[in-house]
Amino acid sequence: MSGGHAHDVSLDDTLDFLNTDDTDDGFPAERLPSLDAALDWFVTRGVIHGEGADGVRRQAEADTLRGERELARVHGVRGALREVAQAVVDHRPPAPSALETVNRALHARQVIELVPSNDGCVAVDHRHVGDPIDDALARLSDPFVVELTAGQPERIRQCGGDTCFWFFYDTSRTQRRRWCDMATCGNRAKAARHRARARATSTDDEAITTITPAL
Ligand SMILES: [Zn+2]
Repeated sequence: MSGGHAHDVSLDDTLDFLNTDDTDDGFPAERLPSLDAALDWFVTRGVIHGEGADGVRRQAEADTLRGERELARVHGVRGALREVAQAVVDHRPPAPSALETVNRALHARQVIELVPSNDGCVAVDHRHVGDPIDDALARLSDPFVVELTAGQPERIRQCGGDTCFWFFYDTSRTQRRRWCDMATCGNRAKAARHRARARATSTDDEAITTITPAL
């Protein structure tokens, strides 16, 4: 997607945001470890303007605590969205506190207004209100909520990899995709199955060798 004044945040962007709470070989790996990193990510995805991000950076430099709070808010909304996604995958109701956090994020979305357009008709204008991070989090929450209410939430899946907790959208016809990515998690799972089979076979061999002398 473009990094400009983009309003077309896709569900993939939202899921990518969820997956920034990542793991490396089963250990937590935070892909947005600082407010700076989070702002960079938002700008790349077009959910925050460069100027907006710079404003937040300046405020955070002047007030470290405020910067920490902003980052905690980003992580908090991401965690709440993850909880809702997890609940969808597990077919259970999400934690009420997660819903509250997501709802609060949604309310902070930018205001859309109709304005006369140059061709004498009418256009949609966006009045940016409130703070850029609120706006970014609302925009990232949006496609997810639309998918839940008017889409196919059953296509939101979680990777079956042992140490992978990525969410993905299953676009396959059969809706039986199991891995976030066949090239990584799919192959890893295949290799693990292969190793397990090889181990089982060698254990059988050992069992036979141990038993043989007794016979
Ligand atoms: Zn995976």
